[in-house]
Amino acid sequence: MNQVFTDKAKKLGFIAVGFSKPTTPLHFDFFCRWLKEIEIGNINYLKRNIDIRRDPPRLLEGLKTIISIAYPYPLSKPSTPDGYTTSRYSTPQEQDYHLRLRRLGKQLCTFITEIFPESKSRVCVDSAPILERSFAVMSGIGFIGKNNMLIVPGYGSYCFLVEILTTAQFPIPSFEGPENRCGSCTKCIDRCPTGALKAPFYIDVSICLSYLTIESKDNIDKEAAGKMGNTFFGCDVCQEVCPFNKSDLPIVSIPTTDAILSMTEIDFIEIFRKTAFERVGLEKLKRNIKLVLS
Ligand code: SF4
Ligand code: SF4
Repeated sequence: MNQVFTDKAKKLGFIAVGFSKPTTPLHFDFFCRWLKEIEIGNINYLKRNIDIRRDPPRLLEGLKTIISIAYPYPLSKPSTPDGYTTSRYSTPQEQDYHLRLRRLGKQLCTFITEIFPESKSRVCVDSAPILERSFAVMSGIGFIGKNNMLIVPGYGSYCFLVEILTTAQFPIPSFEGPENRCGSCTKCIDRCPTGALKAPFYIDVSICLSYLTIESKDNIDKEAAGKMGNTFFGCDVCQEVCPFNKSDLPIVSIPTTDAILSMTEIDFIEIFRKTAFERVGLEKLKRNIKLVLS
């Protein structure tokens, strides 16, 4: 059963599929401690729905299986002709991954209904309070690196995570406990431009460039702005230095910084409609570009 589902998911482009029980997730206590200790700026929503995070069946009545699936994002780095870059996962040449992956996830939900006609399923793409990386680890598709990313062995961390919650009872392989394959490596911690990785597996999001350039509604202070280098959307440093990821990857082209700065909202929507850039918005992109240019 699991293999049939995995084959179907792989045909749709997913690279790893795993099954876990909807129990209190691994790392739940760590997550609660982290929430108390860390300044989390505008992402206070993480503090809501703690009960649901502890007890995933609250997301779907009769939940029996959580299926974690990983989908690769392009390894190429978006770059302007004048040499400024954005995080790989911004995929400005493609539709926003939330939309694409939800569509693929729904196809998988339909497939589950064909196998288990009485079942109900729900797809989550950053859309539900669930500790997604913990369930991915429990499902056996990867491990969490010291950079806090899920690392899929043989592939690395350049992937999106999708969960399918289903009332269908898939066989659940036993979980032997988390493993860590980082060994003595500390490259991600050593190279984080702002020191946001304060310790292995411990991130201070309030100074993480990925948070500051995408999520934060506040101005970016001078000190953090000075650490953005030439990247004006997100930050890939703690993944680029990771030996589990491939290096020397090609580049995809996006408009010049000048072109983006002179865009009207209409131009912007025409070019970046339904991409992750639209999610961030023109105003924030312009703010970020002005900071890296200054
Ligand atoms: S995304 Fe950048 S700023 Fe954030 S933890 Fe990784 S290296 Fe540090
Ligand atoms: S850079 Fe090193 S320590 Fe960091 S996640 Fe990769 S292997 Fe682990």
